[in-house]
Amino acid sequence: MRFTVAIDGPAAAGKGTIGRAVAAEFSFAHLDTGLLYRAVGARVLAGEPAQQAAEDLQPQDLADPEALRTPDVAQAASKVAVIPEVRAALLDFQRAFATRVGGAVLDGRDIGTVICPHAEVKLFVTASAEVRAKRRLDELADRGIEAEYATVLADVRARDARDADRATAPMRAAEDALVLDTSALSVDDAVAAAIAAVRAKRDA
Ligand code: C5P
Repeated sequence: MRFTVAIDGPAAAGKGTIGRAVAAEFSFAHLDTGLLYRAVGARVLAGEPAQQAAEDLQPQDLADPEALRTPDVAQAASKVAVIPEVRAALLDFQRAFATRVGGAVLDGRDIGTVICPHAEVKLFVTASAEVRAKRRLDELADRGIEAEYATVLADVRARDARDADRATAPMRAAEDALVLDTSALSVDDAVAAAIAAVRAKRDA
């Protein structure tokens, strides 16, 4: 069985949490596509040109996801993500993952619009910039990384603007996406809404 769930939305809106919960509920595979852009960003920070970094990407670049979840790598990721050649180099891998037998959940910025326009279920998970900055601050603190709220909020806004305003595959909700605003929803309620949407489509 092939079944694709596309989850898009800005940083720290809850895409990852929802994606992992949906994947676990239906035994689907899960791909956090942001990690691909982060891995390219990390290679660029180490001195490699962006397009070459994307074309050279290897599975071991994703072996330590925690090392890629830093503010510097996040900004580098959103800078390489505006380059069409970088996006093109990552396309086939994401599409192959989406159509694997057994079902797949992909989360990112352009999954429902560009990578998987025919996904069975599309979700756009969002929340206010302030709520997302607070969540990111707490998450960094849990990992022992100190940061200032104002800096994290400015980072979130800069990344939102870069992701939404770029010419190639800008972040936006697909017309047929279910929009979940998690500033007003608990994690449990957001997960339940996502699972209900998938179940309704799967059982239709
Ligand atoms: O989701 P995450 O915050 O890890 O993504 C890091 C960056 O990678 C985003 O800010 C965005 O610029 C880019 N990205 C993208 N398309 C995706 C996933 C991530 O452009 N499908």
